[in-house]
Amino acid sequence: MLKEKVVERFSREFGEPARERVKIKAFRVLSVEVVVQVDQPTKQDACFVWLPYPPDGQEIPGMALEYPGEAGRHSGTYASEGLKKGLPALKLILTTESELDSLVDYIRALSEGLKLPPVNVDDSERKQEVNASKGESIRVDVSSMPVPKPPAPRREAIPRSVQREVWQRDAGLCVECGTRQLLCFDHIVPFSRGGSNTVRNLQLLCEPCNLSKGNRI
Ligand SMILES: [Zn+2]
Repeated sequence: MLKEKVVERFSREFGEPARERVKIKAFRVLSVEVVVQVDQPTKQDACFVWLPYPPDGQEIPGMALEYPGEAGRHSGTYASEGLKKGLPALKLILTTESELDSLVDYIRALSEGLKLPPVNVDDSERKQEVNASKGESIRVDVSSMPVPKPPAPRREAIPRSVQREVWQRDAGLCVECGTRQLLCFDHIVPFSRGGSNTVRNLQLLCEPCNLSKGNRI
């Protein structure tokens, strides 16, 4: 299971968990805590990792959901330094072990207040689907060709002032279903398609609405 692998890797990098409960293991990295959710009813194959929200303008990992501080997070995260109630947070949805290396570097930089490096998102499964859907119509020996990989657009932390404005405009409710639970900032035009961190391009969506939107795109 990926969750066990993440816990194992973090223990090796950051030392034994500073805090453990049935549903979480919290790792202390200098002044910040990183929380691994080890018991989640949905998405058994994924691993959820909670991080303090980075400073304005810094890099945000591509697999992150951006939680406003006001409500709805996993309660096990609240006791952690940098993740206290009222502070915005990142929830990373890890899907493969290959994402761990760059995540460890990201966490170290975050804990030391350094410029944050990009976190690689493993999209190999998605690529396979795209390749499969292309079928057999084009026969090219791609194995001998260099694979050009366009750099993913840099995703930046939403300035706190923009976060506050979006929260107030949407009245702390999911704009799709009206719930107050599990609210995240959603980019109306996704970052990958050139969307930016403006009030106009952001809205509050709950996590389920957010994820179902992601699947539609
Ligand atoms: Zn919703």
